[in-house]
Amino acid sequence: MSLAVESRGVTVRVPGKINLELVVGPLREDSYHELATIYHAVGIYDYVTAIEAESWSVEVTGATAEGVPANGTNLALKAAKMLARRFGVEGAVALSIDKNIPVAGGMAGGSADAAAALVACEALWELQLTRDELEPIAAKLGSDVPFLLHGGTAIGSGRGERLAPVLARGELHWVLWVSPEAGLSTPQVYAECDRLREAAGIEVGDPTPSGALVAALRTMHPGEVGAALRNDLQEAAISLRPVLSEVLEAGTTLGAQGAIVSGSGPTVVFLVGTQAEAIDLSVGLAARGPAGDIRRATGPVAGAQVIQSVSPT
Ligand code: ATP
Repeated sequence: MSLAVESRGVTVRVPGKINLELVVGPLREDSYHELATIYHAVGIYDYVTAIEAESWSVEVTGATAEGVPANGTNLALKAAKMLARRFGVEGAVALSIDKNIPVAGGMAGGSADAAAALVACEALWELQLTRDELEPIAAKLGSDVPFLLHGGTAIGSGRGERLAPVLARGELHWVLWVSPEAGLSTPQVYAECDRLREAAGIEVGDPTPSGALVAALRTMHPGEVGAALRNDLQEAAISLRPVLSEVLEAGTTLGAQGAIVSGSGPTVVFLVGTQAEAIDLSVGLAARGPAGDIRRATGPVAGAQVIQSVSPT
């Protein structure tokens, strides 16, 4: 039996990302930093539904909905409007977001919802666009949005929006520590990174991804990948949120093969070898680590995907 519906609607599932490597280069004239990063999409998902409507709207529900704007500043709504303007679509959509990705957690949740809204509206309006054709709009919305259209594991350069795929076969098991406090503001973490560098007299050149991580990703050996993880924003995130160094130490002591702050933080991710090890580490962290929400995920996973499409019956 199927339920009768009055309007057409499309639901898209979109993952969060972590950065296996984030090399932060110099500040550019447009006030972004030049980056070399390796993005990795992990199986923690938001669900974005776009339904044909008379006027634009967005509602946000789900485990991490608190603090996400349900107005015109919501990145998913901005994405839908930008796509409509670019392709001369007359109608509007009502968006609903079921949020599970931590907010302001360094996992690009807002960018993920924007990518999902582009994919949902493209399908709803039957624009026949490829992911590559959606990329320029995605890049305008935010540096991480193009990656979330594709998912997987990819090198990002420029301010992160220029992508090249990485050969990475197999699966990695991750344990995530999600902060119980409010997230960290990305611009503030970059500013702290600049401040710490200036105070230490460090000047940086053009960023390049490390060969060691790219090589480790070919075999996906957790010990090798774990040893090659790098995040230039980690020190800045710890400086703003000192508990993160305790979190990193707790996971390492409990046997994680790699431990790193994700993006601008404060989410911390631990790499382990198997699902059983992921369960052991989550139990250990919950019992002995600093208070936080402990989650498990595998990666890489696909980017924004249509999972349901309904028409009036
Ligand atoms: P990044 O890793 O890309 O820097 P983040 O994961 O640290 O981002 P987000 O979860 O994307 O941070 O949230 C950043 C801010 O964006 C939030 O504080 C929120 O006010 C705003 N925002 C706008 N739209 C959304 C959305 N759909 N989901 C989450 N946050 C949103």
